[in-house]
Amino acid sequence: MVDLVSQYEKIQEEVMEGMADILSKAQFINGPTVHEFSSNLAAYHGVKHAIPCGNGTDALQIAMMALDLQPGDEVITTPFTFIATAEVIALLGLRPVFVDINPHTFNLDEVQIEAAVTEKTKAIVPVHLFGQCCEMSHIQRVAQKHDLFIIEDNAQSIGAEYLTKEGKKQKSGTLGHIGATSFFPSKNLGAYGDGGAMVTDDDALAERIRSICNHGSTQRYHHDHIGVNSRLDTLQAHVLNVKLKYLDSYINNRIEAANRYDELLKEVEDVDIPFRASFSSHVFHQYTMRVPAENRDGLVEHFGKAGIPCGVYYPIPLHIQDAYKAYGFEIGDFPKSEKAAKEVFSLPMHTELTEEQQSYIVKHIKDYLS
Ligand SMILES: *Cc1c(COP(=O)(O)O)cnc(C)c1O
Repeated sequence: MVDLVSQYEKIQEEVMEGMADILSKAQFINGPTVHEFSSNLAAYHGVKHAIPCGNGTDALQIAMMALDLQPGDEVITTPFTFIATAEVIALLGLRPVFVDINPHTFNLDEVQIEAAVTEKTKAIVPVHLFGQCCEMSHIQRVAQKHDLFIIEDNAQSIGAEYLTKEGKKQKSGTLGHIGATSFFPSKNLGAYGDGGAMVTDDDALAERIRSICNHGSTQRYHHDHIGVNSRLDTLQAHVLNVKLKYLDSYINNRIEAANRYDELLKEVEDVDIPFRASFSSHVFHQYTMRVPAENRDGLVEHFGKAGIPCGVYYPIPLHIQDAYKAYGFEIGDFPKSEKAAKEVFSLPMHTELTEEQQSYIVKHIKDYLS
């Protein structure tokens, strides 16, 4: 699905040089490299603050803690996402309230959100799935009207640009109160281990986030909040510093690969290629198409036999996961998410994909579906 080895070979020298320096100083936690990465990441997003942490799941959790969400508060999100989004809501004793997706973008259907708002609703967590932003202007309007926080789950869309109503391009992750992202190795900006970050323009919020990441402390052994221990280690910060410089070119490689897939697949009957929204760029964390439900699992098997990787993101929507039974959702509650779960099929997508590989991959789709 990804080719991190070939990508590494191109930046090996830069990475190794800095690594050796960090190892020789034995500075593994915090320090100037982490600070440097924080400011580079903030600058990349065009915001004042970027606060790194241990992983993307922590970033979502810490964001909710920093906004002082309390047990029983309701948080609106999508059931068609990676489990982490709903997991941290549940873990903090908050109540996940799901809203179905727009079948074209696979993202939260913004027009259904307002109907889900109650007196207990405190936040919306839009997930910019697969590399494309949600329709944020509507979400911002609903949030403003009902005084709700917006926490963007930007784990899959770092670097995507949202076109505001004023015609301005704005980076995903900066369209709400806090943007949370992940540097899991296979993400668009991947570390060589775990990592995550939050971005915000709000000074007070940034201060609180920093403190929560560090056991709720700003002064050693004085604890103002209940916090966690979640930090980006120095070696990862160095890797990310190197890779952030190339993020835009990595994104371009992904877009070019996606364009080639589009071209190769456009005449294949029974395949719906990814929809491209007018209000957002697509950074193609995944190239996710739809095939008829009755063919999907067979296609997965066909790829398996041919030794070609593929993915199903995600096979079971969150509202019908066993762990979330207690919230009382049922099959049929979010039919568009349930339908998507049966039809999605993701192709290998990374920065090193060649035309030849892609033709080979598409040939196997054609062979199977025709
Ligand atoms: C990867 C991912 C996360 C979690 O990130 P980790 O760094 O693995 O904890 C959260 N949300 C979405 C949508 C993701 O894809």
